[in-house]
Amino acid sequence: MSDHERRATTEALFRDVNERIAESADRFDAERTEFVCECSDPSCTHRVTASLAEYENVRAEPTKFLVVPGHEQEDIERVVSDRGRYRIVEKVQAVVRRVVVRLDRRTGTAPSES
Ligand SMILES: [Zn+2]
Repeated sequence: MSDHERRATTEALFRDVNERIAESADRFDAERTEFVCECSDPSCTHRVTASLAEYENVRAEPTKFLVVPGHEQEDIERVVSDRGRYRIVEKVQAVVRRVVVRLDRRTGTAPSES
């Protein structure tokens, strides 16, 4: 696995964690939810506070991720929105884009658990 693939896979894993968080937040009708930072550092434990609507806005695009300000990696992504509490990044590196699209449970080909 290349470095780019490894980083993209880490980010997709964090995204899966947030998918579960969003599902339970939806159930409890939470106003603000604590998501995990979706950066490529597997040891990152930072949290990002956002509303479900804000999260859905990011998740609408399989190449967009939610990160703590400063956790963006300029060699693979660009910041498309700075919301203060968090930043939205879009993957621009070709391998990373391909992997995160493939691993997107909503639109990709990854097997979804039903
Ligand atoms: Zn992070």
